[in-house]
Amino acid sequence: MIEQSVQTHPRLARDDWSGRLVYIAPARSARPVVNGDGCPFCAGGDEAPHPFVSPYAFANRWPAIAGRCEVIVHSDDHDDFGTMSPDRIHRVVDLWAERSAGIGSLPDVSCVLVFENRGAEAGATVAHPHSQLFGLPIRPVHWVSGDHERCPGCTSSDPGLTVQESAHCRVEVPQAPLAPFTVRIVTRRHVNDLAGLQPVERASLAHALATAVRALDGLVARPMPYHLWVQQELRPGATAHLAVHLVGLLRSPSRLLNLGAAETATGLRFTPIDPYHVAAQVRAVMKQAR
Ligand SMILES: [Zn+2]
Ligand SMILES: [Zn+2]
Repeated sequence: MIEQSVQTHPRLARDDWSGRLVYIAPARSARPVVNGDGCPFCAGGDEAPHPFVSPYAFANRWPAIAGRCEVIVHSDDHDDFGTMSPDRIHRVVDLWAERSAGIGSLPDVSCVLVFENRGAEAGATVAHPHSQLFGLPIRPVHWVSGDHERCPGCTSSDPGLTVQESAHCRVEVPQAPLAPFTVRIVTRRHVNDLAGLQPVERASLAHALATAVRALDGLVARPMPYHLWVQQELRPGATAHLAVHLVGLLRSPSRLLNLGAAETATGLRFTPIDPYHVAAQVRAVMKQAR
């Protein structure tokens, strides 16, 4: 009975009780858990047999979605966004943009999700800093598709929550963050995807990313495990506003953020620190770092 219903190809399932969509991806359980010696992403490793110029992209051999998952290795060493120079991060942003456009051109791809799980606590199975791209057949339901009149990226800039402003980017704490230590990088210009950014805007985004990650690290005095994703929209006529979200997964230097039953049940989040206080803390950490 059970065996008949088991399928090996990834598929999207809908829960009748909540309407929630869940990807069932059985093949991913076969992917290796890497620990100790022998990094698969360092030159000479299983996924990078030859020396390479970083960053580099390759197809994920254990894709959550068949044929539409890529891995981008950020560097030929283990430097991450907290230690890489903005120039090196800029090259990662360029590759994100290039591969987003590549995956976005495949049939039935409605959304190219660029994301990074930083650290084992955040779900990374390989320690070597890397991000991933998923070509999704659906657009995430809670992603706002701003129009030019009422775009949240163009209109809602609260000075109390803004932690850094440059010519091309703004770094801010969201008014309703998913976790206490959350920041969002928003481009000053209304642009809907990474590929639409000018080189000077990509450089500014890379710089903002470097300072934002260093600030999160500074808040907890250790590399902050985080979930990063790029909110972008590639379809023709898209009106979304590009943003990079960074959700820190610690609530204090030693305590991991765990979701409670009330949060799982309702989809609501409860945060113990006022976002205005977090913004003040982030500004103070950034000032110290200068
Ligand atoms: Zn490595
Ligand atoms: Zn906008």
